[in-house]
Amino acid sequence: MKLQTKIHKGMLLLIAVTLLISYSIFTYIIYRQTMNMSIYEVHQEAQYIKRLLANTGSVFLPTIDAVLYDTRISLIDKAGNVLYDSNRDIDFENHLLRSEVQEALAGKIGEDIRTSETLGTKMYYYAEMVDNNILRIAKKFDAMWITALRILPVILAAACIMFILAYILAKILVNKIIVPVNQINLSNPLERKNYDEIMPLLVSIEKQNMEKEKIDTIRKEFSANVSHELKTPLTSISGYAELIKDGIVQKKDIENFAGRIYHEAQRLIVLIDKIMLLSKLDEDKLALHKEDVELYPLLLEICNRLNPFALEKNVHIELTGENIQISGFRYILDEMLYNICENAIKYNKENGTVKIWMGKVLTTSKIIIEDTGIGIDKRYQERIFERFYRVDKSHNSKIGGSGLGLSIVKYATILHNIQIKLESEPEKGTKFILEF
Ligand code: ADP
Repeated sequence: MKLQTKIHKGMLLLIAVTLLISYSIFTYIIYRQTMNMSIYEVHQEAQYIKRLLANTGSVFLPTIDAVLYDTRISLIDKAGNVLYDSNRDIDFENHLLRSEVQEALAGKIGEDIRTSETLGTKMYYYAEMVDNNILRIAKKFDAMWITALRILPVILAAACIMFILAYILAKILVNKIIVPVNQINLSNPLERKNYDEIMPLLVSIEKQNMEKEKIDTIRKEFSANVSHELKTPLTSISGYAELIKDGIVQKKDIENFAGRIYHEAQRLIVLIDKIMLLSKLDEDKLALHKEDVELYPLLLEICNRLNPFALEKNVHIELTGENIQISGFRYILDEMLYNICENAIKYNKENGTVKIWMGKVLTTSKIIIEDTGIGIDKRYQERIFERFYRVDKSHNSKIGGSGLGLSIVKYATILHNIQIKLESEPEKGTKFILEF
């Protein structure tokens, strides 16, 4: 639909309503005016005829009639008989019962307004006693609808002119209105000022642009980092294999070298799994459905999965509290909790512990995962959720991290509307608090 049509329609409606209202008001005013004019004239003529009657009697009435051709003059006696009437041809009935005649008989000035039989005209009647007879004068004026009809052509002409003007004005207006809208640069919508009404739209486009840009840079960085991260273990694998191939490695060391290759390959597999999960999350391609997830059994199962690793590191895991059930994506919740718990073991110390507690605190459900590990310095705490971010790369390469775990955690918390808080002190330990 065209904006011009819409504005034009609105204007037409406004004009039509305005014209209709002014038409009614005009009609009423003109009707009142012509009526008052007639009354005024009749009063004047009455005085004039009264004097003449007093001076010269009724013989002059036809002469006066000829002059005042649109005034009807009647002379009626007290019994109601018509002695004289401008309309000589009509056979008159008794006029005694007419209200103006009755009033005149009572010694007052009689007045009445009646619609005459002649269609559409109204009559103003005036009656007064003059010598022993009643002088009655009447004049016609237009009824309201005739007045209205008379004004109609003027109003129609005005309507035509105004409609044409409205059409032109709408065109000009729309062109003027639309110019700034068409000039909007979608890739930089706030570069020039625009209507206040569309500013929210422009601001949200700008926001979206910024988000897109951010996502784009994250993606670019991500792919650059991915290649880099994949290259490191592959270079190691290739190096070890080359040494074996060239016969440089002694027979007794082959097992050790194979172990290193295996270890690096495992790291690669874990890394690729995480990269794939993240890119699927990025593209919303995980065909998952929400379900009710019991978090206690899930965490118990995760602890069991991690137990061999914990034993290896001599870390003790404790799980306490009560079950929480939430509606979410089991696979992603599993990844989230697994990554936090794995880190709590990974970055722990010899004989350390990981305490996991879950339950309700007032109205919120919480999961607290606390370790007695190396902790995270305040200045890194914000950054650890970034992709591929690792606090201490050299330390980490020994431990074997990808820097992707916590970015998956972050994603999962956003997806499930979970608040994640971090309390950590270097050399003392780290506490992750998830609030549902
Ligand atoms: P990674 O695979 O390296 O563990 P994450 O994204 O899971 O990657 O973690 C990012 C960084 O945050 C880690 O490299 C580590 O330096 C730090 N970190 C995460 N969890 C802990 C923790 N419980 N204690 C100490 N440092 C941690």
